[in-house]
Amino acid sequence: MRFHNTLTKKKEEFEPLHPGKVGMYVCGPTVYDYAHIGNLRAYVFSDTIRRLLEHDGYEVRLIKNITDVGHLTEDDLAQGDSGEDKIERRAAVEKKSPEEIARFYEDAFHHDEDALNIIPAQFFPRATAHIPLMIRMIETLIARGHAYEVNGNVFYDVTSFPNYGKLSGNTLEKLKTGARLEEHPDKRNPWDFALWLHAPKEHLMKWLSPWGEGYPGWHIECSAMSLEYLGDTLDIHTGGEDHIFPHHEAEIAQSEGTTGKPFARFFMHERHIQVDGEKMSKSKGNFYTLADITAKGFSPMDLRLLYLSAHYGSQMNFTWDSLSQASKNRKTFFSLYERLSENKETTGSDSTIEPRKAFLEAMRDDLNTPLALSALLGFAKKINATIDAGETFDAHAALGFLDEAFRLFGLRFETKIVSDDVQRLIARREEARKAKDFVLSDKLRDEIAALGVSVKDSVSVKDLPAGFTARKKMGA
Ligand code: AMP
Ligand code: ZN
Repeated sequence: MRFHNTLTKKKEEFEPLHPGKVGMYVCGPTVYDYAHIGNLRAYVFSDTIRRLLEHDGYEVRLIKNITDVGHLTEDDLAQGDSGEDKIERRAAVEKKSPEEIARFYEDAFHHDEDALNIIPAQFFPRATAHIPLMIRMIETLIARGHAYEVNGNVFYDVTSFPNYGKLSGNTLEKLKTGARLEEHPDKRNPWDFALWLHAPKEHLMKWLSPWGEGYPGWHIECSAMSLEYLGDTLDIHTGGEDHIFPHHEAEIAQSEGTTGKPFARFFMHERHIQVDGEKMSKSKGNFYTLADITAKGFSPMDLRLLYLSAHYGSQMNFTWDSLSQASKNRKTFFSLYERLSENKETTGSDSTIEPRKAFLEAMRDDLNTPLALSALLGFAKKINATIDAGETFDAHAALGFLDEAFRLFGLRFETKIVSDDVQRLIARREEARKAKDFVLSDKLRDEIAALGVSVKDSVSVKDLPAGFTARKKMGA
């Protein structure tokens, strides 16, 4: 298989460092708000890579961090040394502790990932649980001449790392001629970035370090945690395009400055989702969450198919029309699945699965999901026509391919295909339940039942009384 590598700006044949095993690091969410559908594209993207690797027989170890400290409001603009901690700011708004904020939005994130059928990472390390590791790495960087301390702040000296800029193209020469950054008085060069920041009195999240009380910069957590769980060199590192600079450039400088070995062999980045031609972002307020999508009666699988309808390396403009089209495709695939499950005749020809070759080739060619999707749509059309014409075919092979395609696309088959009317009612009932309007919710349940669909409310583990484990819930 071939992937586009941001490091070389080329499509390259992928081979892991250790035969058969792939180490993958995915920059995870900053848990100060619900994820928007742009953020979720990043996680469906890495899940699609993982699904392809596992399909082709690799054993994948995937680590996705939870950023619960150190991501500052100005991180995208400057180099990690100004602005407020995003979680602390949210905590002040909601009048909660930073820990409460982080755990709440971390739970919400797992819920979204599950709804989108994203295979869970083997581990979701939290930054706050790895401060000693980060401190150790910063000490090594100071000892190796890559970092310096001033007034309880520690900065990475970018002039000490000749390869700085190799990922983003933002080499020191280019940075010097570009726009000036806001200068921190303790920095030697304006392009240096913070590894550790001195915590003022009012700062809530702080730890004791060799440089006094402080907190880590955003970039160091990924270097420290990937080294801990994946070793010196990982095979694939993913993120959104905004991570190329400064975040991943800084990670390379930190990790390679510490180990002297190559950090990641492949960097892969998905491009952003736009709304009306503008980047979808929390700060602009022009974003949709998964709940906004399902409230309109769409399935999370519609969103997954919408993501797959564009190549991860191209920008995507979100529109409700494109989501409706994705929903139509989902219904086509799910009805076909039902049709084939009822018809397992294996006597006929298996020529109907010819599109499988094109499907797999497209997936292995840098995840060309739009091409794979069109192969799958062609397949659905062909099978439906064959069944309609009463011709025999190898339905067993056809169902096998559909299963395989669902696995690669991450489509979770929903057994009952409900009509749009029922979906709308379910969405309205979900809203009523959220608003604790149980009279309306019961009324809607009856309306749904009248259309022949029964709804069952599940209890999530976190609603259960303390000591009541998931095993007990499952009746084990
Ligand atoms: P954050 O939680 O802000 O750290 O971001 C989580 C992920 O979402 C990162 O990989 C970002 O690059 C990605 N991301 C942020 N905004 C967008 C967007 N509009 N479209 C696609 N991905 C995005
Ligand atoms: Zn990261």
